[in-house]
Amino acid sequence: MALLAGKLVVISGPSGVGKTSILRRLLADLPELIPSISATTRPPRAGERDGVDYHFLTTEEFEKRRSAGEFLECCRVYGRQHWYGTLVAEVAPRLAAGAWVVLEIDVEGTLSILKRYPEAVTIFVEPSHPDQLEERLTGRGTESPEAMARRLEVARRELHEAHRYQHRVVNENLETAVASIKRILTDAGLPASPPQPRTPSGVPA
Ligand code: 5GP
Repeated sequence: MALLAGKLVVISGPSGVGKTSILRRLLADLPELIPSISATTRPPRAGERDGVDYHFLTTEEFEKRRSAGEFLECCRVYGRQHWYGTLVAEVAPRLAAGAWVVLEIDVEGTLSILKRYPEAVTIFVEPSHPDQLEERLTGRGTESPEAMARRLEVARRELHEAHRYQHRVVNENLETAVASIKRILTDAGLPASPPQPRTPSGVPA
C-alpha cells in the first residue's frame, strides 16, 4: 500500500463496553479525528440518524454496493443477521488528504483493514469486569433477550481476540479510558489539542 498522508485509527470492543460514549468524547475533544460512518442493514434505533450514526441501507442496496467494490471491509455481525461495512469513500479520500480517520468496527473487520492498512493504530476497549457488558446492555434496553444473548456470545469471542490489537484500554471509567486513548493517539503523532472547556456534566461548553 502506498504511503498515506493521514492515519487510520481502529477502535473495537465488545457490545456494551461503552465504545460509543468514548468515541463521542474523543470526537468532541479532538477535532482532527474524522469518524468513518459505517453502512449497515440493521434498522435504526430510536434517535439514530441516517448519514450520522450509520448509512442505513436495505439488504439489496448493501449487496449492490458490495458487488460494486464500494466496501473496504464488510461482514455480518451477530449470528449473521445484519451486514456492517466500511465504505471506501468514507476513508480513502480523507486519508489521502492527510486526515486522521477513526473506524469503530468489530474484530473481523479490523483484521481485514489491517491487511490493507497495516500501519493502522488499533485499540481494543475491554470491560473492567465480565458482568459489565450484560449490565450495560440490559440498562440500554435496546435489544430483545435473543439479540442480547447473541451479542454476549459474540462479546465473549471478541474478548479472546483482544491480543491482536496494538493497544488495550480498560473502560473502568470514561474519563480515564478517554485520557488513555488520547495518549495513544498523541504518541502515534496526533497533534495535541488545547484542553476543551467542559460543563459539569462533562459535555463540551
Ligand atoms: P451496533 O449494532 O451496536 O451499532 O454495532 C454492532 C457492532 O458492529 C459493533 O461492535 C461495531 O463495532 C460493529 N460495526 C459497526 N460498523 C462496522 C463496520 O463498518 N464494519 C464492521 N466490521 N463492524 C462494524
